[in-house]
Amino acid sequence: MIRTSKLAASIQPSATIAAGAKARQLRAAGVKVYDFSLGEPDFDTPKHICDAAEAAARGGQTHYTPTAGTAEVKAAIVRWYKRLYGYEFGPENVIVSNGAKHSLHNALAAVVGPGEEVVIPSPYWVSYSDLVAMTGATPVLVHTTAASGFKMSPAQLTAALTPRTRVLMLNSPCNPTGTVYSRAEIEALVTALPEDVAILSDEIYEQLTYGTASPTCVATLKPGLKDRVITVSGASKSYAMTGWRMGWCIAPAAVVKAMDTIQSQETSCPSSVSQAALIAALDGPQECVAEMRKEFAGRRELTLDLLGAIPGLKLPNPEGAFYAFFDVSSYFGKTFGGKPVTDSLSFCTALLEQAHVNLVPGSAFGAEGFARMSFATGRPTIEAGLAKLREWLAGAE
Ligand code: PMP
Ligand code: GLU
Repeated sequence: MIRTSKLAASIQPSATIAAGAKARQLRAAGVKVYDFSLGEPDFDTPKHICDAAEAAARGGQTHYTPTAGTAEVKAAIVRWYKRLYGYEFGPENVIVSNGAKHSLHNALAAVVGPGEEVVIPSPYWVSYSDLVAMTGATPVLVHTTAASGFKMSPAQLTAALTPRTRVLMLNSPCNPTGTVYSRAEIEALVTALPEDVAILSDEIYEQLTYGTASPTCVATLKPGLKDRVITVSGASKSYAMTGWRMGWCIAPAAVVKAMDTIQSQETSCPSSVSQAALIAALDGPQECVAEMRKEFAGRRELTLDLLGAIPGLKLPNPEGAFYAFFDVSSYFGKTFGGKPVTDSLSFCTALLEQAHVNLVPGSAFGAEGFARMSFATGRPTIEAGLAKLREWLAGAE
């Protein structure tokens, strides 16, 4: 028998990926599932992006590329940030990886290790704590509440800092809460941070904000800050490109060089065809992004209206991303179809088994008492699935 490693045993499977796999399994067995688990746009990748990938594949762009990505894809990323935020940097500050999850992993592996700490405001995206733990560093979670809009205050940040703190992870707009920090709020956090602590800013939902909320590119907040910030983003969410696996980091050249070394031993380079697709996404017409955002905004309204009409749920006000993260704890201690529900995991498990509605338990995001619903799915599924949820909750005993 082959023994598996301590590393493998020390981390959890991704709860979001596991929830998506469960829905797939049930569907394969012929069950109609109302699946709100994975944060994945249901739109197909826009045609001009697919055309560029096809042309690249047919035109012979089927070889290894430089480890950090082609000169062309880096130039497209440089142009994109200049256009979006007026943020200027060179190709030596860019590295493209196989999805933003991979970018986060490589960035963490490049800057932290055993004996060091990474501060993570909680609720946080499932993978953050395990990605930190995989480097041997320790995740330090800072608990935030719905009452504060799930925002970490400068005082909370200060209380979490130790001489071992190396990195603060930020994620605005946030998965799972949809929280968007204002520019001033991020400025206050940056001010509270010692100069030798880096900021790993995951801005992957930057093009998905609603109402008056707007994203902040943290590296551009004040002169000199870009020397302390590693910006992560990717094409999965805004361009409906989850399967293409395109993520990137903007960082000081020495950090990019360290990530390049790691990536050269891990994956050689990101996919050549996906890089060509990414260029078309970033340089091409941006109306598709605006159209998808508009549709997400409509689904958000619909989701909040329908959830708001269900007794016992405490609703948030997600200003970005495509998740509703709501408090289901008033149902704990009740039974459903004879099954006791005591926490977010037993709640979501019973809901999936009995009503075939698939949510992700808040515990996976460090927030017991909550459940996450992705509204990156069609309106008919949202309407039918939330009717099912309401009916199931009404049967609580
Ligand atoms: N960061 C956050 C906050 C996310 O929600 C996701 C979702 N997958 C990612 C990073 C990674 O995205 P991907 O690997 O698909 O680029
Ligand atoms: N980020 C998405 C989510 O939270 C996709 C799944 C994943 O990569 O974890 O559902």
